[in-house]
Amino acid sequence: MFMRVDKLQAELPAPKRKDPNAAAALQELLGGKYGEMSTLGNYMFQSFNFLSKDKLKPFYSLVAAITAEELGHVELVSNGVAMLANGPDNDGDMEAGGDISQAPFEAMKDIRSFASFASNGGGAMPVNSNSMSWNADMVTSTGNVVVDLLHNFHLECGARLHKLRVYETLTDPTGREVCGYLLVRGSVHAHAYALALKQITGVELEKFLPTPNIPLDKIPECQKYLQEGSHRRLYTFSPADYKSMAGIWGNGEQALPGDPPGELQLVDGMPEGGKIHQLSGVPSAFTPDYAPEEMFEIATKLYKASR
Ligand code: MN
Ligand code: MN
Repeated sequence: MFMRVDKLQAELPAPKRKDPNAAAALQELLGGKYGEMSTLGNYMFQSFNFLSKDKLKPFYSLVAAITAEELGHVELVSNGVAMLANGPDNDGDMEAGGDISQAPFEAMKDIRSFASFASNGGGAMPVNSNSMSWNADMVTSTGNVVVDLLHNFHLECGARLHKLRVYETLTDPTGREVCGYLLVRGSVHAHAYALALKQITGVELEKFLPTPNIPLDKIPECQKYLQEGSHRRLYTFSPADYKSMAGIWGNGEQALPGDPPGELQLVDGMPEGGKIHQLSGVPSAFTPDYAPEEMFEIATKLYKASR
């Protein structure tokens, strides 16, 4: 089962301006072929379907724990997308938004993913950068442990490819931070699947890394995560379970050449993470609508009653 924590896995800086096209570019990391919906879907169903879970515990634990991290990546990218579509932070109060008879959102007809405004109110959806639906065909769960782990290794390398390309298109700090954080974590996952395959087959797949071949030290947004050792950490995302993967991630294995050196380390639980930003509605876009002030008042009363 899953437990939910009301935070993001990383602290994101607020966007400097509203940029729905940057949000659309970032959607590729959510619902693209190699996006977070794909990594989540693959590891989640592989972990559900895993055969001989007890006998293959370290391998099962690895896929199960990374599943939880990927669900948090879906959340992180979704927040990044919505932040870019909504613009700079405010305190959650609504802006006027303009007279609806004067086409206040005329500029929106020229954004790449018009549905992100028209249907989704500036929120993220499980679609790629061209609004094409993510779907279950992106999920591979063969029941063969080596084939699935090899697929996962490919998936993480592919994810790195489109993270690097999306990063190269973005100037806003929010989207760049999402890419920087996920490049470090994706590198951990590729490394972890490589080490799992090495344990089973003896093939030193980690020597392929980094694939594609750009080291993390070329990306300014990766530096603080490397300094704090995120590239050496894998999290259990559980109060007590999945510790057996320390035999794969740990066990004297070292950081990849090119990254700050040190031994790989399994961490119980989850990263400290960062806050979820407040995004506000706009009356002329009918968000959150009904009777906003009245709803805020009702929510305040309910909150007080819960204390
Ligand atoms: Mn991910
Ligand atoms: Mn991953």
